[in-house]
Amino acid sequence: MSNGATLDRVLVRAPGKLNVFFAVGDVQPDGYHDVASVYQAVSAVEEVVATPSDDFTIAVTGSVDLQGVPLDDRNLAIRAARLLASETGYAGGVHLVVDKHVPVAGGMGGGSADAAAALVACDALWRTGLPVARLHDLASRLGADVPFALLGGTAVGTGRGDQLSPALARGRFDWVLVTDGEGLSTPVVYGELDRLRAQRRPDIAPAAGDPVVDPHVLQALRAGDAATLARAARNDLQEAACALRPALADLVADGIGHGALTGLVSGSGPTVAFLAADPDAAAMIGERLAEEGHDVRHVHGPVGGTRVVSAS
Ligand code: ATP
Repeated sequence: MSNGATLDRVLVRAPGKLNVFFAVGDVQPDGYHDVASVYQAVSAVEEVVATPSDDFTIAVTGSVDLQGVPLDDRNLAIRAARLLASETGYAGGVHLVVDKHVPVAGGMGGGSADAAAALVACDALWRTGLPVARLHDLASRLGADVPFALLGGTAVGTGRGDQLSPALARGRFDWVLVTDGEGLSTPVVYGELDRLRAQRRPDIAPAAGDPVVDPHVLQALRAGDAATLARAARNDLQEAACALRPALADLVADGIGHGALTGLVSGSGPTVAFLAADPDAAAMIGERLAEEGHDVRHVHGPVGGTRVVSAS
């Protein structure tokens, strides 16, 4: 029972993301790439419950295929909890129960959302009360997409994607996600992009020295204009993901044939996000794709960032 000094249970929600724009710069000497990204948090949401424990343990459930989710110290949520404990000197541990609704290894930042949720949940459970700026600092040490999962909404990310500035967005964007197929490894997709660029293929966008966001994307988001967003949206990793998984290119064409305004591989894939004109159009596109046997879900964005839903 909580007595005001301690908490027994904290429930936190954290959103998955889509990249509505993703430009990738040249590979850096350390193997990383600078990017210019526009993130949108979407209504595929992870729930994390934190309860007190002497150790750091985790259980995972959810509506997505959970294969590939580690249940030990490799799990990003556990790494987040351990990092917070070591930074604050907290001597105890936590048991985390993660309810996953973001496809695993789908380029939608599910692990990053779990890490953000674990940071916020443990900070509340342990009453360590870190200022937001320090939480963001810990988040960026855990992974490039973790700070955005904390922030949510719509944001431009530069550097490794973790230097964030919030962007204005009006209205609601409806997306149909196709999440079938095994996950794609992010480093492998970047490696394929480097390989394709080295071949100077005409269909591959060359590396921008200093990648920047196309202003048309930001205008479309500010105006809440899905058709304009569809024309300006772009992901430099898309060709690489399609080269590794040729069925993705057919899937994109298929969804557009069913009325989607565009089909974007999300991050490093293999989730494909189809932008629809409105919720009814999304429902229809989703139905057609499901009839063809695809694993489909309808989400919308932008939604808010990581937040405590209940604490007792
Ligand atoms: P990224 O682009 O950050 O590699 P993603 O968004 O494509 O990731 P995630 O669902 O975050 O996909 O998982 C990527 C990999 O991270 C998984 O294959 C898994 O091995 C590992 N992982 C670690 N912690 C988690 C977690 N809590 N949930 C899912 N995967 C996790």
